[in-house]
Amino acid sequence: MILERTLSIIKPNAINKHVIGNIIKRFEDNSLFVVGLKMIKLNYHQVSFIYSEHKNKLFFNELLEFMTSSAIVLLVLEGHNAINRNRLIIGHTNPAYANIGTIRKDYADSITKNAIHGSASQEAANREIYYFFKKNEIYSTL
Ligand code: ADP
Ligand code: MG
Repeated sequence: MILERTLSIIKPNAINKHVIGNIIKRFEDNSLFVVGLKMIKLNYHQVSFIYSEHKNKLFFNELLEFMTSSAIVLLVLEGHNAINRNRLIIGHTNPAYANIGTIRKDYADSITKNAIHGSASQEAANREIYYFFKKNEIYSTL
């Protein structure tokens, strides 16, 4: 088992449903612990950074509009195999295919408004975490 950090973003539709606490509880119940947390409103540049691989996709403008529509919560999560386990707790990108008990199954409204982001790889996790957090803003046990 490897102790890792990953980044999750509670997206605008989940913020509007008032389920920040519920989502954090799911992570904590699965031993993914919050070591960094911010509530901010993303701008165009920040969304483009997170989703740079999707900039040329047809859905990018819709994604951009959604992600900048209200505040979001950034979570740095730490735990054993945090990157893969975070993705399992989150569920499939498309809520129609998400397993029962996953965050997206319960809180997604559509493939775009799918409630939460989770870093896809070790490389993505490092890139995303240190874009939003200074080292001294992470309260780690590592
Ligand atoms: P994931 O968030 O599961 O890593 P992707 O990296 O493929 O998924 O996509 C990034 C985000 O873009 C998704 O979480 C979702 O909000 C949005 N998205 C992905 N695919 C589509 C699509 N076909 N139509 C609309 N929005 C999409
Ligand atoms: Mg992705």
